[in-house]
Amino acid sequence: MSYLEAVASTESTRTRCDQPHKTASRTPTSSSNSPNKIQEKKTLLVLDLDETLVHRTISTGSLNKQCDFSFTIGERTCYVLLRPYVRKFLERVSELFDVAIFTASGRGYADPTLDFLDPQHKLIARRYYKDSAVYRVDGSYYKDLSIFGIDLAKVILVDDCPTNFCMQKDNGIPIASWYTDPQDDELSTLLPFLERLAAADDVRPIIAERLSQLRRIYWLKDLASKQKQQEGNTEAKLNSGD
Ligand SMILES: [Mg+2]
Repeated sequence: MSYLEAVASTESTRTRCDQPHKTASRTPTSSSNSPNKIQEKKTLLVLDLDETLVHRTISTGSLNKQCDFSFTIGERTCYVLLRPYVRKFLERVSELFDVAIFTASGRGYADPTLDFLDPQHKLIARRYYKDSAVYRVDGSYYKDLSIFGIDLAKVILVDDCPTNFCMQKDNGIPIASWYTDPQDDELSTLLPFLERLAAADDVRPIIAERLSQLRRIYWLKDLASKQKQQEGNTEAKLNSGD
């Protein structure tokens, strides 16, 4: 999913949240590296892990040769690739925000990856795992930011899965899913906007305005693409004499 497609799809996520769910964990299960740190700074930046900061696989394909590190769980080996710029990104945002990771993965998979990303436990203040997400009957899930117990004017979620924004869509910043592209620059591109949010009293109207602009760009591009396709079809018809 491209960045603009991710932005466009955030529009329809609120409705899907209204579907019944079977679990609603209101008490987050987390590990904290610095218990008092959350109260020290203004805004909490919540980051998704998979396809936002890293890509992981347990396959034994070509990825095991190019991965940044690997670890084993039981009999399985997990290969991890880091998204370009991820370390510098974490260093910078940890200066601006309290940083939490909220992943739909279990602790067994997430912790080795986060320990590799933040070996001294200085960048990421808290870790939230899949048991903190809200699961629906169909097996899908979303991330309810109210579990942090913090004023939502001061909470941001960056995630490649737009359905995770459905409870608080004005707090969510979509990012394109990342797998292996070494040229990807989404994290560095996002930084100036996050720097702007760090100084905001309420992040929600700023995020809403940006997403509205990006949706319009997506809509215009999509419209131009359809018009071009239509013109091509008309020209082909004329040339064939139909
Ligand atoms: Mg993800």
